[in-house]
Amino acid sequence: MLSNLATRDVETLIHPYTNLSTFRETGPLVLERGHGVWVYDSDGRPYLEGMAGLWCTALGYSNEELVEAASEQMSRLPFTHLFSGRSHDPAIELAETLKELMPIPTSKIFFTSSGSEANDTQVKLTWYLNNALGRPAKKKIISRIKGYHGVTVASASMTGLPANHADWDLPLPGFLHVGCPHHYRFAEAGETEEAFSQRLADELEALILREGPDTVAAFVAEPVMGAGGAIAPPSGYFEKIQAVLDRYDVRFIADEVICGFGRLGTWFGSEALGMRPDSLSFAKAVTSGYMPLGGVSIDEPLYKALVSQSAKLGTFGHGTTYSGHPVACAVALKTIEIYKRDRIVEGVAEKAPHFQARLSALAEHPIVGEARGIGLIGGLEIVADKNSKRQYDPKAGVAARCVAFAQAEGLIVRFLAGDRIAVCPPLVISPDEIDTLFDRLICALDRTEAWIASEGLT
Ligand code: PLP
Repeated sequence: MLSNLATRDVETLIHPYTNLSTFRETGPLVLERGHGVWVYDSDGRPYLEGMAGLWCTALGYSNEELVEAASEQMSRLPFTHLFSGRSHDPAIELAETLKELMPIPTSKIFFTSSGSEANDTQVKLTWYLNNALGRPAKKKIISRIKGYHGVTVASASMTGLPANHADWDLPLPGFLHVGCPHHYRFAEAGETEEAFSQRLADELEALILREGPDTVAAFVAEPVMGAGGAIAPPSGYFEKIQAVLDRYDVRFIADEVICGFGRLGTWFGSEALGMRPDSLSFAKAVTSGYMPLGGVSIDEPLYKALVSQSAKLGTFGHGTTYSGHPVACAVALKTIEIYKRDRIVEGVAEKAPHFQARLSALAEHPIVGEARGIGLIGGLEIVADKNSKRQYDPKAGVAARCVAFAQAEGLIVRFLAGDRIAVCPPLVISPDEIDTLFDRLICALDRTEAWIASEGLT
């Protein structure tokens, strides 16, 4: 029986990433407020938010300083834009702050309102750069199966998940995908992580050679794959990939939409994993999810290309009304100030061993095949048989069921394709709350195991 709000919801809303064929029966979880790492539903029931909302509320809920920063900017100047040379102080100060934080040489910052827009911008800028350099055929974009880069047309083309392609007439031509760096699932029997990484780098090189290096513009990757399964790369992976990209002058774009701003215990995931991208995309935790903001870093060669193209065309023809929205920028500035002042990133590095120890212990559970992550992100995979790694029929929806049991236990986690479950709590989670999170997850796994038996699933 759905509540009044839930009934009105199913009558009126289309929800992203929701099974609309069953939604009318299940209805939504309607949340009303939050505090710290806790959110409360419309009946006042608390849930530990083990997904930081959607990988973003790094500072948790009800942070008064962020509320004040937004309110102050709303009262002072709620909107102006960056078109045609207009500007405002929060955007200027934020761009300066970000330039200093960037782990790669950065000349300028371009703001968007989301991660999808940031990645779409990366594609357009890459094409723009190669046109300016007089090599218009160098256009193809390579990303990875199970990579997630968003839903706008170019971002969805880079995304490597079936739900973003099938029946959407995507990916666009010229968007190619290489293998997923998930050692547990895709390594051959006895293959070490290093050997698996080498095989994936060889696969990338073979693809570039087959397509022709003069046609391949960029390679895009998340440091830790998020929506594809919270998948940490095998050792040596990015070092070997980087060598291939350098060899063929392929631009490297790091999608830091989840890993940026402390998730792996470093300011950016690229630093934790030894990546040397030419540019990175960010969003989500730049405002702790309190306002929609994203962006990309612009290196000097790209900036020069944009200037020379502008001289030719009379303008830089890209940007949206809300690029660098003043309220979003003010909230981002305050968020970063708090990250620095409260040593949030260092705190992640300190808490990560405890979080990862509790996570990897889940691999002992009878229905868990793998449990692994980095920093304060991790994923686990439910299997029917630990030895063969065989999974249950996807139609049984085992991980979805586990997430529903977790919700009943007062814990929010997320199920992903391939019977995987992601855990990605606010960065301000305390060690005790980490224990609560995993204690509740174990209860959910136990209930799932009992449900599997009662359903006779094999
Ligand atoms: N890139 C990554 C790694 C993401 O996880 C996401 C969203 O989850 C996106 C891009 C897209 O961001 P948005 O949903 O803000 O468009």
